[in-house]
Order: sequence, then structure tokens, then C-alpha cells
Amino acid sequence: MTTAAPEDQLRLLSLQALDRRAQQLAHSRRTHPTLAKVAELDKHIADLHGSLVDSRTAVSDLERELAKSEADVAQVVARAAKDQQRIDSGGLSARDSVAVSDELASLARRQAALEEVELEVMERLEAHQDALAKVEAAHQELVGAKVAAEAERDAAFADIDGQAAAIAAERADAAGGIDAALVKLYDQLRTRLGGTGAAALRGGRCEGCGLELNPGDLGAARSAAADQVVRCEECGRILVRVAESAV
Ligand SMILES: [Zn+2]
Repeated sequence: MTTAAPEDQLRLLSLQALDRRAQQLAHSRRTHPTLAKVAELDKHIADLHGSLVDSRTAVSDLERELAKSEADVAQVVARAAKDQQRIDSGGLSARDSVAVSDELASLARRQAALEEVELEVMERLEAHQDALAKVEAAHQELVGAKVAAEAERDAAFADIDGQAAAIAAERADAAGGIDAALVKLYDQLRTRLGGTGAAALRGGRCEGCGLELNPGDLGAARSAAADQVVRCEECGRILVRVAESAV
């Protein structure tokens, strides 16, 4: 049978209130809405990342295609300039002159066809550049929102941690003033029973589990010596007899 001074048993209720407050703070830190917000933004950013990669790849592929198309046109233009130079030099025989003129005409047709391809690639590139700019802007916006949510989270955590530190200091003080064996029993029960190790016996009811004591247990609790540590028969918590329980 455990015994402890009745004042120490009463102090246990103050300790329990501090522990409950610490538990609430830990819970609000764990479930803080900014955590869900950051996680959701992370998910959106990850989802958009695929589109971003696809869009960047499409743009760089088209840039390469355009460069090749431009080179194709330039090659034909250079060839035509060379032919034109041969004609202009006037040193060609009549037969060669006809052949070179034919080639020039053929090169002009080829150039026109290649330029059409070039134009079509340019148009596709522009469309993809526009799309990429939109995806990049959306991505940037999400990243910005995430940074803001993280800052909000960090500020909230700093506030919660400050309160928790103050409560921990107050708790250490409070626990230091109570019989060590009683605190030890209380801590064991608290760990095992969802954070509540001690509860008041008020109006014939255990405030830990909320159940009314049967008349036999209630009588035994009330008649027990003041320094006897009474436990709830239902939940096992330390029952602290407070003034109201005598009513
Ligand atoms: Zn109980």
C-alpha cells in the first residue's frame, strides 16, 4: 500500500494539469494545420514536376530541331550563292550555264520547302515556350506558397515550443515539491493510461475514467486514511480525494 501526505496527493492534480497542458501542446504541434498545408503543396509541386520536365524537354527538342532546320536552309542558300557566282563570272559554256540555272531553280524550290518546315518548327517552339512559361509560373507560385507555409509553421512551432519550455520548467518545480515515490507511481500510470495518472474523486466519480464508484469502493475510499494513496478500481489511476468528494 502506498502512502503519501494528503497535500502531496493534492499537488499531484496540479502536476496532472501541467502534464495535460504539455500533452495538448505536443498534440497541437503534431497536428498543426500548416503541416498538412506544406504536405499538400509538396504533393502539388511533385505533380507539376513531371509536366515541367516534359515541357522543358519539348522546348529543348524543338530548339534543336529549329537549329537543324536553319542549317538546312543555310546550306541551300550557300549552294545557290555559289551557283549564282559561277553564272555571274560569265566563264560558263552555254550547256553548263543551262545546267547551273536548272540547279538554281531546283535550289529555290528546295529553299522554299525548307523555309516552310522552319516556320512550322518555329510556331511549334513558340507554343511550347508559352506552355513552359505557364508551367514554370505555376511551379514558382507553389514553391512560394510552400516557403510561406513553412515560415508560418516555424513561427507557430516557435510559439508552441516556448510555451512547452515554460510548462516543463513549471512542471520540474512542481514535481520537485512532491514525494518522489508518489511522482514515480503517477508517472508510470500516466505513461500507461493515455496521459492521465491521477484524477480527482469528485461527487463519487473518478474524473480519470468518468465512472461512478460503486458504494462499496466509494465508502472504502472515503474511510481510508488521509495518507493512503487510493486507486480507482475501474481505471487504476490515483484517486485524489478533494473537498467536494465529501459532499
Ligand atoms: Zn477511474
